[in-house]
Amino acid sequence: MGAPLERFDDLPKRVENEATIVLGQRKLFQRVGPGLVHAFIFWGFVVLFPTIVIAAIYVVDREPALPAGSPLAWLESQGWFALLVDVFCVLVLVGIAAAFWIRKVQRPRRFEGSHLGEADLILALIAGIVSTLLLWHASQIALGLNEWPAVWSPLSDALSGLFGDNTSTEVLERVFVWGHVLIILSFLVYLPYSKHLHIATAGPNVFFGRTRANGHLEPLDFDAPDEEIRFGAGTVTDITWKGILDTMSCTECGRCQDVCPAYATGKELSPKLLIMNLRDHVFAEGPQVLRDGAFNATPLVPNAVSDDVVWDCVTCGACVHECPVSIEHVDHIVDLRRHLVMVDSRFPAESEPMLRDVERSGNPWGKPQDTRADWAEGLGVRVLEPGSRAPEVLYWVGCAASFDERARLSAESTVKLLLAARVDVAILGPRESCTGDPARRMGNEYVFQSFAEQNVATLNEAGVTKIVASCPHCFNTLANEYPDFGGRYEVVHHTELLAELVSQRRLRPAADDEAITYHDSCYLARHNDVLSAPRELVAAVGQPLEMARNGKRTFCCGAGGAHMWMEERGSAINEERVREAAETGAGTLAVACPFCTIMLDDGVRQTETDLRVVDLSTLLVEALERE
Ligand code: SF4
Ligand code: SF4
Repeated sequence: MGAPLERFDDLPKRVENEATIVLGQRKLFQRVGPGLVHAFIFWGFVVLFPTIVIAAIYVVDREPALPAGSPLAWLESQGWFALLVDVFCVLVLVGIAAAFWIRKVQRPRRFEGSHLGEADLILALIAGIVSTLLLWHASQIALGLNEWPAVWSPLSDALSGLFGDNTSTEVLERVFVWGHVLIILSFLVYLPYSKHLHIATAGPNVFFGRTRANGHLEPLDFDAPDEEIRFGAGTVTDITWKGILDTMSCTECGRCQDVCPAYATGKELSPKLLIMNLRDHVFAEGPQVLRDGAFNATPLVPNAVSDDVVWDCVTCGACVHECPVSIEHVDHIVDLRRHLVMVDSRFPAESEPMLRDVERSGNPWGKPQDTRADWAEGLGVRVLEPGSRAPEVLYWVGCAASFDERARLSAESTVKLLLAARVDVAILGPRESCTGDPARRMGNEYVFQSFAEQNVATLNEAGVTKIVASCPHCFNTLANEYPDFGGRYEVVHHTELLAELVSQRRLRPAADDEAITYHDSCYLARHNDVLSAPRELVAAVGQPLEMARNGKRTFCCGAGGAHMWMEERGSAINEERVREAAETGAGTLAVACPFCTIMLDDGVRQTETDLRVVDLSTLLVEALERE
């Protein structure tokens, strides 16, 4: 039923993801306690799987003649396997007890909106499966029916003391094995109707998860034949097959909801409920679509998801990073936006000027393009004219640093530093235009693609091979999205290049004792793994202090997903982040993104916090002047 999507490439990475995320439970271990609980139960089922097959045979014959030399007969006789079974039965029971404790005593907020009754029933069924297995093995030992040396299964052996070698035990042995098999069969029947469908779907969902950078969005193909062309997701028939698999893989664990800045600040969006609501819609309309292709499927917005939910998202990717089964929430949200914007012309009214300015002026500030390089006057940086010699490094300034007064300072500092280190650098000046990122994150793929094609043509004509960008959004688009349009360059963030120049001693900053806390931009840290270079710079200029949420688990500044140009409902994301920064006791809040600079500076003013928001490049200039 799903729309096409290419997810059969990059097999080695897919196999690695399956091994680490599914078998190794890597993403679940991002939270150690709940991760261990799930791992005990999951690994328990992997180890105990052969006992299910063995029980299914013994249920019809107390002493079956398993073919000599068959793998099952061999396994059943192995003491080490009996020991593993005992150990994992205990671990599964410990896991279930801990899961009940978390759900009934701790009651974390992440479970709000999940089907808690279903989870209780499933946990009880699993406890029943494991308990009956132990009791069955114990009764077998009591009757002398065990094929394995009893001493290797100490728990079952100890429990066998509860039973004598008599007729009652013979009856109980039948009761336990039948109970065991019947609970498993009930479990299998219930599975597809519950959130535990993920037992069947999570493995494939992880395998077909994205292997490219999280910040990359799949382009729409406007040249596709009419019957294949997609304008995002309007109804269930537009959701890609991976998107449908996503909806059926959700475990309702709420890890995504727990880290979502929109949810944390009282907005309607919960990434968990978004996926659950899409799933309910797919189940409600999918069978009819499969039966009758002409069925008039109803719009996803507002029937499955409200308009506000679609526009609340800042595309920070915290949900995707956290999700243990590789669900891709941002792709769902952007696909919903694409349909609303390009087909229904429906989007928040306050963002209309931004889209208009990008289209008309080539930047969301609506400023004339010929003033784009005004900030660089007197700095001595070369502005590339058509036909000029290509520089070693092209500095992609971005719209914010070109036109916003506060963000301009970072562009000036970056250029000063690169020239001081004798880097052969140049800028495009008026020939640079918006990368199209805000239009794309708003859902206007047409506008994005026209800017992508125009910028790639300019960069290729200029012979550019290496780009340094100070805006993480530009960085992400240039590095991860322009290759889809023929633009392949080595792209680095300005913090990476500056850290390299410091390590090569081409820049020699002197650190002082100012306490600095660094705010990771989502599009730098989480979407693109740039974590260490900014920290090296902080350590080179002052005394680093980490915020509680940092690195790949950073908290958004509130500007992503084109939210720089949208009204915010609920409490302000930037103010929440500023309060967290202030809790470190630092006097300086270092940033590496012009949007973070603007948003957090606004947050400092609103909360009247005593913090100086400043780009790392400017801190580095100050540290050089100190030397
Ligand atoms: S991308 Fe960020 S804002 Fe959007 S749903 Fe995920 S966590 Fe929430
Ligand atoms: S989307 Fe992922 S993280 Fe969110 S509730 Fe579902 S499984 Fe958990």
